Amino acid sequence: PERRYLVGLIGAGITQSFTPLLHEVEAAALGLDYEYRIIDLIDLGKQAEDVGELLADARRTGFSAMNITHPCKQVVLDVVDRLDPRAEHLGAVNLVVFEDEGLVGYNTDWMGFRDGLIAGLSGVSFDRVVQIGCGGAGAATAYALLSSGVGRLDLFDVDPARAADLARRMGQHFSGSTIAIVGRDELTEMIANASGVVHATPMGMKHHPGLAFDVELLRADAWVSDVVYRPLETELIRLARNAGHPVLDGGRMAVGQAYASLQIITGEEPDRERMEEHFRSL
Ligand code: NAD
Repeated sequence: PERRYLVGLIGAGITQSFTPLLHEVEAAALGLDYEYRIIDLIDLGKQAEDVGELLADARRTGFSAMNITHPCKQVVLDVVDRLDPRAEHLGAVNLVVFEDEGLVGYNTDWMGFRDGLIAGLSGVSFDRVVQIGCGGAGAATAYALLSSGVGRLDLFDVDPARAADLARRMGQHFSGSTIAIVGRDELTEMIANASGVVHATPMGMKHHPGLAFDVELLRADAWVSDVVYRPLETELIRLARNAGHPVLDGGRMAVGQAYASLQIITGEEPDRERMEEHFRSL
């Protein structure tokens, strides 16, 4: 009999997520019997710490895998039986697969960002990159940047401890690159010298208006990447594009993580461009 896939997403405030549609439409195109459900902590009156219990329930119910999002990506590190080494290195899990040996944790956010850099920013320089924001998304972008061979990565966060933690963690795995922490007083100079800037804070979302840095500081040839994907065209992306900078919006990372998740869960080869077109039509 044909295999049936039941997959879900655990997180808080996720009822509007596009992820179920992205997975289900592509899985249907691949001829798979595949259902994707939203499991919202808020609706269930649950906390991030309840993710272990929710995963155990899901496994019993016959789920094959579960995507994990805010605020559970770190808590789940302690719940899985085995971690993919890359997920362990970057310190966050966004996919748990229920395998015979137990719960296996992966991170596909960094893969999505890496693939976006390749597809959306080909030919640019990765010599010196400034990253603003060192939370969950920032761990994935930093890991992807360093895996892609960035020469120097300057990390800034309004919470300096976050930047320091990320720098320490990345330093353990990428000895070939310079990884520096940037204070607020040095940020302007670092941006002015950068070949590219990655924005990884929530600024630019509907409920977090504004800009984390001044686009006019950028070198004429500098590129800009935003992790925010709702809206796809953030104020940052709009201003940078209008000023002639190469830009990468948050959509490629979002689609890329779904693509990689679907690939790991099913072992099939999803059509990335078809997923990309579908996402941009939503
Ligand atoms: P988070 O809360 O884990 O991290 C955000 C970090 O930004 C925090 O460390 C915070 O201190 C810092 N910060 C906030 N404002 C700042 C500012 N003005 N300057 C410098 N640092 C600042 O959040 P997160 O999970 O990393 O999410 C951030 C954004 O990334 C959200 O908009 C989320 O939707 C998006 N995201 C996108 C993808 C994707 O696939 N495109 C994936 C994950 C998250």
